[in-house]
Amino acid sequence: MTTLIHHIAEVRDALDQERANGRTIGFVPTMGALHSGHLSLIERTRAECDVVVVSVFVNPLQFGPSEDFSKYPRTLEEDTKLCEEVKADIVFAPSVDEMYPAEPLVTLSAGRLGTILCGHTRPGHFDGVATVVAKLFNATGRCRAYFGRKDAQQLVVIKALVRDLGMPVEVIGCDTVREPDGVAMSSRNRYLNGEERTAASVLYRALNDGLDAIKAGNADPVQVASAMAGTISSEPLARLDYAACVDAEDLQQVTAVEKTVLLAVAAWIGSARLIDNVTATPQGAAIQEV
Ligand code: AMP
Repeated sequence: MTTLIHHIAEVRDALDQERANGRTIGFVPTMGALHSGHLSLIERTRAECDVVVVSVFVNPLQFGPSEDFSKYPRTLEEDTKLCEEVKADIVFAPSVDEMYPAEPLVTLSAGRLGTILCGHTRPGHFDGVATVVAKLFNATGRCRAYFGRKDAQQLVVIKALVRDLGMPVEVIGCDTVREPDGVAMSSRNRYLNGEERTAASVLYRALNDGLDAIKAGNADPVQVASAMAGTISSEPLARLDYAACVDAEDLQQVTAVEKTVLLAVAAWIGSARLIDNVTATPQGAAIQEV
């Protein structure tokens, strides 16, 4: 039985009670419009923790003025049903007023992690993510929190947030769930028409071309990135945002592919901005865990 909770005080009290009874808390933050990628996180949490909490909140702070905040899909009823199916205990779905009762005076900065890669195109996005996740962690308290590696930069920011602010949270990265043609599952795939959906597989193909370049012995991150950029540019329906080959741990530039790297791409297909990434060994093998 899944309980739907809308208020911070209520979720905090419920989880304090669970911890007092010796139970561990697993937390999966989401923006809803749940798909199999989200469900894989929830299923892993179910397997590893006593109490499973899923938050559903479309956070206005992480959307830029020209982004899709107002049209982002909101499907709480279906989301709650799916959570019930995968045996989540609590769906925490606060309103914007509950999370931000007043214009926030104090917010967090993701620092230099917030200005590179996706942060370059989405200024303020990772500051908004850090702020909302800190608020959510304040509501849940001590827990294990599960995030997808599909949003690799977000995962690096959240790990830094927890480390730098000393939060009682263990952050766990989970593998990307893909469609049969390699497209990473995303709530934003709903924006794509049939042709665009077919074109979207170019991101995954680009990542594989990056892996192939490394496998073929190319250790120059600029050339690896430009191989990926070339693949994306060859798709008429795609508009490249960036293609990058960076240090997998801190996302900084590398001068050579000689340790684990993150290959990351972002592109607009129609009105949707899609991202994808893969972690690679210096030999060009894709690896799941860093
Ligand atoms: P979102 O609702 O897009 O904010 O995503 C909520 C969580 O689900 C984040 O930790 C995402 O990284 C994760 N997630 C989204 N898509 C996928 C996917 N295809 N595979 C695995 N995790 C995902």
